[in-house]
Amino acid sequence: MKPRDRLRIAMQKSGRLTEPALDLLNRCGLTFRQSRDKLFCFGEGEPVDLLLVRDDDIPGLIAQGVCDLGIVGRNVLHEFQGTAGEGATALTEWRPLGFGRCRLSIAVPQERDYREPADLASQRIATSYPGLLNAWLREKQVAATVITLAGSVEIAPRLGTADAICDLVQSGGTLVANQLREADVLLQSEAVLAGPQTLPADERGDMIELLLKRLDGVIQVRE
Ligand code: ATP
Ligand code: ZN
Repeated sequence: MKPRDRLRIAMQKSGRLTEPALDLLNRCGLTFRQSRDKLFCFGEGEPVDLLLVRDDDIPGLIAQGVCDLGIVGRNVLHEFQGTAGEGATALTEWRPLGFGRCRLSIAVPQERDYREPADLASQRIATSYPGLLNAWLREKQVAATVITLAGSVEIAPRLGTADAICDLVQSGGTLVANQLREADVLLQSEAVLAGPQTLPADERGDMIELLLKRLDGVIQVRE
């Protein structure tokens, strides 16, 4: 692949992280002109462009070198790290960004007892995060059946297809609406700036260092 001379940052095309991510980049002095097909946003001042994609695709795009950095939930980054095969480019969290906060939690039907992970033994747990859930079950030495669903995980217990779920929780409103309660927390998440462990040794690396400096200033001011 021909080396690029402009920095490319992947971010969510449309979802919870889109607005706050753009807002943060704007406050770092970056402004963009949206292209007609809305896949790319071209940077107007600095040599930094955006690639607008589904959040789940962001770690893979960085690992493949299509993008230099990405703004993505820690949950998605860790799920990728846990399931990417050996030899895949190692990604790292360069900065926590302070928005998109949520937890990846185990939830069980309201009337069910839950004291400890061992209570999940032999149960069916529905999730969109099989990598993170399997790693947690292994660590807790619990043998359970993981059922991978792409979405609407919270309805699985009512449908009788799962005994518990492992899903993202913010306010807990979705759980209550589905007669579930939060029982255990696997991961505290927020949006992060993700990238390869080693920065490119060209102008893009310099631009990343400048961006990190500006981010630190902006995040400090906000705190
Ligand atoms: P996409 O179309 O990009 O795949 P999505 O439906 O997977 O979108 P969103 O629901 O917009 O994604 O969530 C994006 C991220 O926002 C999550 O991965 C998570 O890090 C964070 N987030 C914060 N609160 C919540 C919540 N209550 N439910 C889901 N995600 C949340
Ligand atoms: Zn997604």
